[in-house]
Amino acid sequence: MIRVQNLVKYYGPTLAVDHLDLDVEAGQVVGILGPNGAGKSTTIRILTAFMPPTAGSASVNGHDVLTDSDAVRRSIGYLPESTPLYPEMRVREQLHYFGRLHGLDRTARNRRIGELTEACGLEAILARPIGHLSKGNKQRVGLAQAMLHDPPVLVLDEPTAGLDPTQITEVRKLILRLAESKTILLSTHILPEVEKTCQRVVIINRGRVVAQGEPEELKQRVRSASRVVVDVKAPVEQVKAAFEKIQSVQDVEAYNDQGWTLAAVTARDNVDIREILADAIVENRWSFREMTYETASLEEYFIQITSAANIEAA
Ligand code: ADP
Repeated sequence: MIRVQNLVKYYGPTLAVDHLDLDVEAGQVVGILGPNGAGKSTTIRILTAFMPPTAGSASVNGHDVLTDSDAVRRSIGYLPESTPLYPEMRVREQLHYFGRLHGLDRTARNRRIGELTEACGLEAILARPIGHLSKGNKQRVGLAQAMLHDPPVLVLDEPTAGLDPTQITEVRKLILRLAESKTILLSTHILPEVEKTCQRVVIINRGRVVAQGEPEELKQRVRSASRVVVDVKAPVEQVKAAFEKIQSVQDVEAYNDQGWTLAAVTARDNVDIREILADAIVENRWSFREMTYETASLEEYFIQITSAANIEAA
């Protein structure tokens, strides 16, 4: 549905997108994740036929962004980071206004606005002036506006930026609901966004794809991923020696904590070592206060992968 090949974009001497490839199949929700300046907005501006690439190609719904830009725009509902909304207009008026811009006649507009009111949960706010709405509700209106011409693809730029936690949850739910009938590409610099809403994540840094996969798959790739912290009553050296003997243990860091030993044990290859550690504790007849399991977050992976790429490029 979206296909980007070898995309390059220079702004003057600045290389913003560096031979980027991206494929989004119909029906997928894909997240472009990257730190500020990574090239997310530039890629989106090219995909929405807002500006041409320096080299490479991009197409949406089979239409090339350079040679068939009108068809590309018709295929995409675009929610920019700040949606153009008129504060003095009421929600219904604004939707009619943009519906007219899309060339919809009154009957078509009424039908479409009715459908979108339902899909985006706008019933309660249709008659309210946009300026009086919360940011979360403005984002719902923005999404409805982006879908007036019923495009198969939605492109959302940082869709939950600036929202409070309740609004974030609601907008994410709405995105997931829209995903039942649309192909969605969203950009974000925050991880929970992709963990919560995307089936696939493409991590970009300095204009290049540095990793991609399902959120779960990416998590698995984090080196020395899971770690168990235990608090046992035994001398530090004994605890360290006993845990280090275990084959699936990669590393043990242990400290004395007022007669107790606090040991942080890292497993090899993501193995869950809680049971093995519990067996060792029982075998040694140590008293034990606490065991906590820490799994690697996608955030750690993201930091690892983007900083590695930065070092390489430096
Ligand atoms: P992101 O959306 O991931 O934050 P951008 O696509 O906005 O990244 O920016 C990628 C790179 O291109 C950055 O180095 C940025 O400074 C540069 N850039 C973006 N827009 C322009 C512009 N209009 N003129 C010059 N440089 C730009």
